[in-house]
Parts: sequence; C-alpha cells; structure tokens
Amino acid sequence: MTQIIDGKIVAANLKEEIKQKTEVLFKTKGIKPGLALLLVGDDPASKVYVASKDKACAALGFNSIIMRLPDTASEAECLKIINDWNNDSNVHGILIQLPLPKQIDEQKIIKAISPSKDVDGFHPESVGRLVIGLPCFLPCTPHGIIELIKRYNIETKGKHVVVVGRSNIVGKPISNLMYQKQPYANAIVTICHTGAPDIFKFTREADILIVAVGVPELIKAEHVKDGVVVFDVGINRVADPNSPKGSRLCGDVDYASVLPKASAITPVPGGVGPMTIAMLMYNTYLSASGETQY
Ligand code: NAP
Repeated sequence: MTQIIDGKIVAANLKEEIKQKTEVLFKTKGIKPGLALLLVGDDPASKVYVASKDKACAALGFNSIIMRLPDTASEAECLKIINDWNNDSNVHGILIQLPLPKQIDEQKIIKAISPSKDVDGFHPESVGRLVIGLPCFLPCTPHGIIELIKRYNIETKGKHVVVVGRSNIVGKPISNLMYQKQPYANAIVTICHTGAPDIFKFTREADILIVAVGVPELIKAEHVKDGVVVFDVGINRVADPNSPKGSRLCGDVDYASVLPKASAITPVPGGVGPMTIAMLMYNTYLSASGETQY
C-alpha cells in the first residue's frame, strides 16, 4: 500500500502546535511574534500569497504588518522600509513577496534584510550557513519537505536522493540539506537540471525523488523504480475539459501512474504546498522566541 504523505494534515497540526507555543510565549515573556510583509505591485498571485500569509498570522495570534507599494516604487523606498523593520523590535520576521518589479534589484533587497529576521531563508548569509551546517532559518518549502520526512519517519540516511530542479528557493536548498550530517538527511544527493542530457537515467535510481521543475507531470511511472518515495513540489494549472472550471492543478509528477510504484508520495494539491506557509510561521515563531533554529 502506498503511503499518501498528507501535507494538509501535517501543516494543520504544526500550526496548532505553533498557536499553543505562541500563547505560552505571550503569557511568559509578553512577546507576540511579528511578521512584516512587503508587497510591491499588483501581481494577482502575489496578492493572494500575501493575503494567505496575513490570514495565517491572525489565526496563530501573530502580529502582521503589510506594506503595499505601487509597481513604480523605487529600490530606495523598499530599502528604507526594510531598514525600519530591521530596527523594530516588534518585527521578528521580514518577508519580501517575490517577484519584484524590474527596476528593483531583488538580490540587493534580500541582502538588506537582517539575517536574524530572514524567515524566508534567502539572504546569502542564511544560504551560506545552511551549506556549512550552521543554525539558520531554512527556506520554507525545503523546510516543509524536511518536516514531512520527519513526521512520516522516512529513512534518509545513506539513501540516494535525486532532486530535479536547481532553483534558489527549492532545488538548491533541499539538495544542500539532504546531504548534511543531520537527522532526516545524511543522504547521497544527485541534482538534475536542463543541463543533464538524460535526467531519467538518474530519477530511475532514486530512493527518494524530489521534483521542483514547473513542468506538468514530467515524471511518469517508467521514470521511477519500485518503492520510491516522491516529493512533488510542482504546482501547475493545466487545461481539463472534464473539470467544471476547464482546468485542474497538477504536480511535476504524473501522480496516477507513479502512485502504484511508490512506497510514499505527496499529492498535488495537498502535499508539499500547504507546508510552505506553516514553515514560514514556524520560522517567525523561532525568531520571536529565540529557540534554536535548524
Ligand atoms: P524555477 O525557478 O522555474 O526552476 C525550475 C528548475 O527546474 C530549474 O533549475 C530548471 O533547470 C529545472 N527544469 C525545468 N525543466 C526541466 C526539465 N525538463 N528537466 C530538468 N530540469 C528542468 O522553479 P521553482 O521556483 O523551483 O518551482 C518549481 C515548481 O514548484 C513550480 O511548479 C512552482 O510553482 C512550484 N513551487 C511550489 C511551492 C510550494 O509548494 N509551496 C514553492 C515553490 C515552488 P535550469 O536551472 O537548467 O533552467
């Protein structure tokens, strides 16, 4: 029987745990975790993401500050806001909703965030600390995968983990995490990308396959071995004449064909996706409480 890795349930449980810890933090130390969000421009998807992060803050008893700027905003305006938040003791986490308009240098903005409030884990200092195994805020989606590995007790030590995709937000950090000499890691890691002439040669060897490419249902049954554990990060909308909406969401893995071969698999939606905001809340809680980071 294939184990369905249910990110919806894990995220809900984790949020409940954070909510309870947040109440204790407030009662014992008078601290309420505070998350500051900067949204520049009118990108509809970004607006939805910021609204759901704001809602999660309210549900867990966090303070949230949202700064909305028009898409004509300058780099200097953004830097000023970040500097103010860096110096505000009520702000424990700073999140810049990406992408930013083209007149703003994304890396310059990320670098302006104090690493101690970098709850997205994108600051070069956080990235460097992750690579050399020092405590840091882990980027939220890779952190969500580690949490699923932990809660489903998936054996990783000595396993061959194949990661498809090398983005800065998913592929690179999860690859770097999986080989660390840590519990829920300590694996042998292969990273595939468009430079590889035949990625399937590697995916077929994976004990654990993590796919983050943004290509609908790229990985099919013939590309995996029996017993593989699959984490499908992809979220794609594809046309579907059988759906009332005319479209459906799918992952980068062909779920229906891979499911019977896998020993465990994340569905899309409801797998890795729900973990991302939960881990953002967790990172913000850690920043506020001063508890040890990963
Ligand atoms: P991205 O920045 O577009 O990076 C995609 C990566 O996949 C690149 O490294 C690219 O290789 C590689 N790639 C693309 N097509 C490939 C192919 N045919 N064979 C091998 N490698 C290929 O994507 P991302 O931000 O990591 O996101 C990937 C997917 O995950 C998207 O569907 C996104 O919506 C989803 N996502 C979900 C969450 C969540 O669940 N919360 C969070 C983030 C992303 P090159 O480097 O060679 O171009």
